[in-house]
Amino acid sequence: MPLHYIANTAVRSSSGQTLPVIDPATGETFDTIERGNAADIDQAVSAARHCLNTAWGQLTAAERGRLLMKLSAKVAEHVDELAAIEQRDCGKPTKQARADAVALVRYFEFYAGAGDKLHGDTIPYLDGYSVMTWREPHGVTGHVVPWNYPMQIFGRSVGGALAAGNVCVVKPSEDACLSLIRVAELAAAVGFPAGAINIVTGYGHEVGDALARHPGIDHISFTGSPHVGTLIQQVAAERHCPVTLELGGKGPQIVFDDADIDAALPFIVSGIVQNSGQTCSAGSRLLVHRGAYEAVLQRVGDAFKALRAGSPKMDLDLGPLIRKTQLERVNGFLEDARTSGIATVAQGQIDGGVHAGGFYAPPTLLRDVPVDHRLAQEEVFGPVLAAMAFDDEDHAVQLANATVFGLVAGVWTRDGARQFRMAKRVKAGQVFINNYGAGGGVELPFGGVKSSGYGREKGFEALLGFTTLKTVAFRHG
Ligand code: NAD
Repeated sequence: MPLHYIANTAVRSSSGQTLPVIDPATGETFDTIERGNAADIDQAVSAARHCLNTAWGQLTAAERGRLLMKLSAKVAEHVDELAAIEQRDCGKPTKQARADAVALVRYFEFYAGAGDKLHGDTIPYLDGYSVMTWREPHGVTGHVVPWNYPMQIFGRSVGGALAAGNVCVVKPSEDACLSLIRVAELAAAVGFPAGAINIVTGYGHEVGDALARHPGIDHISFTGSPHVGTLIQQVAAERHCPVTLELGGKGPQIVFDDADIDAALPFIVSGIVQNSGQTCSAGSRLLVHRGAYEAVLQRVGDAFKALRAGSPKMDLDLGPLIRKTQLERVNGFLEDARTSGIATVAQGQIDGGVHAGGFYAPPTLLRDVPVDHRLAQEEVFGPVLAAMAFDDEDHAVQLANATVFGLVAGVWTRDGARQFRMAKRVKAGQVFINNYGAGGGVELPFGGVKSSGYGREKGFEALLGFTTLKTVAFRHG
C-alpha cells in the first residue's frame, strides 16, 4: 500500500482513507493508495517551500543537473521494475511499459544537461544604462498528471521544472500513481533533498483542486482533459497563477495520392493503436485523397484485422483500457457509429484467453465518417480510427482544421512544395511530414493550439515555461 511521498518520507493521508488500485487486465483490486485531501497538499507545499528556501535553492544549475543525471542512471537501473509496476497499474503491454520507463531515463538525462544552458540576455538601452534579463524559477510548481503515460509526463514536466530550479508537488491520476511514488523514492536515494519532489495521491476534485487553489503553488502544469483544463484555469485565474495546459487532440493523418503507402502504413496503425489509443497525440483521423481512398482503406483494414489485444504480459499490439468507464466510453462511440450508419471497415481481435473482467476494446477502422459527427470531432481515447476522403489540398486542410483541437498532425506526400504548404496551413503544435510521432521525441517541443492547450513541454522550450523573466536595468551614467 504505497503512501503519499512528502519530504522524502512515506506519509499517510490525514483523511485516514484509501482508494482501491484496480488491475485493468482483470478488473480486480490489488492494492490501495491514499485518498489525499487539502491538508495533505498543504503539508506537501510547505515541505516544497522549505526545500526551495534551503537545500534546493542553494544549488547551482550544474549541481541540479548532476542530481538529475544520477536520477536518470538510477531509473535506468530500475527500468524493468518500473515497467512491471506500470504494466500492472495501467495494463500496458511489456514493450510500451518499458518504452515509458526508458523515456523517463531520457527525460532526466536531457534536462540534466539542459538546466545550466538556460540564461538571460543583455539588451541595448539608453546611454548610461546596462540592462539584462534573468531567468528565474517560478518557485513551487504543481504538476497534475493523467493516467495514460504517467512516467513520460512526469519526466517531461518534473524534469524540466527541477532543472530550471523549481521544486515540485505532483498529483498523479488516481488510476495510475504507483510508478511515480517509486520514482520519488529513487530520487531520494540518489540525494534529492527532502521536499524537492512530493507526491500526493487521490481524486482530482479533492487533491487536484486543492493543489490548483493553494496559494503556495507558483505555477501549474496540467496534462489531461479539456474539461478539467478549464476548471484548473478558472481556479488558477483567481490568484493569477500561471498555467501550462496539455489537453487533448484529434490528430489527422493526411495521406495524398502520391504518398509512399508502404512507409505510411505502420505509422498510421501504430499512431492510433499505441497505448490502446489512449494517447492525446494519437492519429485518430485518417484523411485520404479520394483517388487513393479505397486502396488505402484496404491496406489499413488488412493491418487492423491482424491486430490483437490481450493481457499486458502477452505483449500483443494492445492491452486493456485503463478502467471500466473508459471501456464504456469507447463502446459508446462504437454504438453511436452503428446507429449513425457509419460502416466498419475492419476490427482486430481480442485474444480468447483474456480475463472476463478486463477492459478490452478491439481496434476498429471506420469509414466515411461525416466531418461533423462526434467520431470526427471528439477524442475517443481508444483504438478507433475515423477515415474520410478529401478532394484536393484545400479540402484536406479544411478537414484537418475542422476540430476544436490542434495538437499533432501527420502529412504523407512525396511533393516537397506540398509538404511545406501543408506544414504551414495545418493548425497544430507539431506537424510530422512522412512520419508520425504519437508521443515521441524528448527533444521536440510539444503542446497544442486551440483547445489542445497552450505552453510547451519537452525540449529546451519547456525550460523557458518553467521560468519567469526578470528584467534588471542598471543606471550607471
Ligand atoms: P482528466 O482530465 O480526467 O484527469 C487528469 C488529471 O487531472 C488527473 O490527475 C485527475 O485526477 C486530475 N483532475 C480531475 N479533476 C480535477 C479537478 N477538478 N481539479 C484538479 N485536477 C483534477 O484526464 P484523464 O482521464 O486522466 O486523461 C485523459 C485526457 O487527458 C484525455 O482527454 C487526453 O487527451 C488528455 N491528455 C493530454 C495529454 C497531452 O499532453 N496533451 C497527455 C495525456 C492525456
